[in-house]
Amino acid sequence: VALFWLPLTSIASFWSQFQQGLSASERVFALIDAEPLVVQRDPEPVGRLTGRIEFREVRFGYTPERPVLDGFDLTIEAGETVALVGHTGAGKSTVGRLLVRFYEFQGGQILVDGTDIRTVELTSYRHQLGVVPQSPFLFSGTVADNIRYPRPGAPEADVRAAAEAVAGGDWLDALPDGLDTEVGEHGSALSMGQRQLVALARLLLQDPAIVILDEATASVDPLTEAQISEGLDVALAGRTSIVIAHRLSTIEHADRIIVMREGGIVEEGTHESLLRAGGAYCDVYNTYFRHQSPDYRPGSGFVGV
Ligand code: ADP
Repeated sequence: VALFWLPLTSIASFWSQFQQGLSASERVFALIDAEPLVVQRDPEPVGRLTGRIEFREVRFGYTPERPVLDGFDLTIEAGETVALVGHTGAGKSTVGRLLVRFYEFQGGQILVDGTDIRTVELTSYRHQLGVVPQSPFLFSGTVADNIRYPRPGAPEADVRAAAEAVAGGDWLDALPDGLDTEVGEHGSALSMGQRQLVALARLLLQDPAIVILDEATASVDPLTEAQISEGLDVALAGRTSIVIAHRLSTIEHADRIIVMREGGIVEEGTHESLLRAGGAYCDVYNTYFRHQSPDYRPGSGFVGV
């Protein structure tokens, strides 16, 4: 049973409620199955992946008249953490959506471990993909229930171990009943930061080979921020990670930064090398990341321009 990806489509009222108030990008990054948009040919179930990803000359548009990716090439090595940065509309989320197979692309190939993702069986493939949306999807129930979501039969001990792997479990102390805390409708009893911590514990329990993380833009209190940072280090370690980055610390720690503009890659490298290059990255950095630096002083000069 496709428990992980199909729970919402089977509960129609919950589905429509859940859709309300979410942006299009949050909707597609939420754990919602969009199978009708995807064509499967002779699906093969996949086992454990190492997570090497190749986009080869990928062409895609949401509508036929407007291509978004036009010959997109990107190879990500197994275990590599890549930060996608770029202005809104550059195509960062689209890259993630195609990898997750929310949409069928019109040309080129996407290979994971050398296999064309159009030939793999969707449920087993998606078990190898951990998707963390900006606003993680929580349902009424306890924190433990929500962490257990990707592995409904997981024993309590595994759920606890996943929770404690995130920042040593310190975040549980702030919850009235720890793992047994009721999260409320859509997680309303938890802060945004706490919801993100639940999502990281959930990711660890799922143990996917590949992570697609759309980082939250909203700031949280410094303690929770530190816990999320620590949790992220653990959650991404040993996995291939594509992070649509909104935090300076994430891009600084990425193995490689990919700068996107108008559906293409205009620059790539490390934070330091790209700052030195003084190109497109500097523009993005000045717009979104510079003010997050501890050295930032309002009015100080822009970097690289
Ligand atoms: P980013 O994540 O970098 O902000 P997106 O991948 O969301 O960019 O968007 C890339 C382009 O595709 C933009 O021009 C955007 O307007 C368009 N786009 C994104 N989602 C949709 C959609 N569901 N339908 C039509 N166009 C879309």
